[in-house]
Amino acid sequence: MDDCLFCKIAEKKIPSKMVYEDADLVAFEDINPAAPVHILIVPKRHIHSLNTIAEVDREIIGKLFIAAKTIAKQKGIADTGYRTVFNTNKDAGMAVDHLHLHLLGGRVFGWPPG
Ligand code: 5GP
Ligand code: ZN
Repeated sequence: MDDCLFCKIAEKKIPSKMVYEDADLVAFEDINPAAPVHILIVPKRHIHSLNTIAEVDREIIGKLFIAAKTIAKQKGIADTGYRTVFNTNKDAGMAVDHLHLHLLGGRVFGWPPG
């Protein structure tokens, strides 16, 4: 996608603080962190949201969570706890139209979320 912020970050046309990259995904620090650890884990291939995933995306969805687990351990929040979130569309506050898994940790979160 030509005009997609996270496609541009994945292609390194826009800088980010990247913490992980492999052939299929990138992970980088959120520019406006909502917790001491706030990482966005993003497929390189443009996918809009959970609403648009299909059978072909089965593997990449699993890889996003494997990356979350690995990064959580690296960041030292695996034992204390963390939250993984996909926001989908307006009511969830989705602001960037490219699928991204939030990895949040380093503080206590409320439940239910606001
Ligand atoms: P959403 O609300 O769509 O689930 O989450 C989008 C996230 O992307 C937000 O937490 C926001 O702070 C982050 N974000 C927006 N623009 C940029 C950017 O240019 N760079 C980085 N690293 N994060 C961004
Ligand atoms: Zn995109």
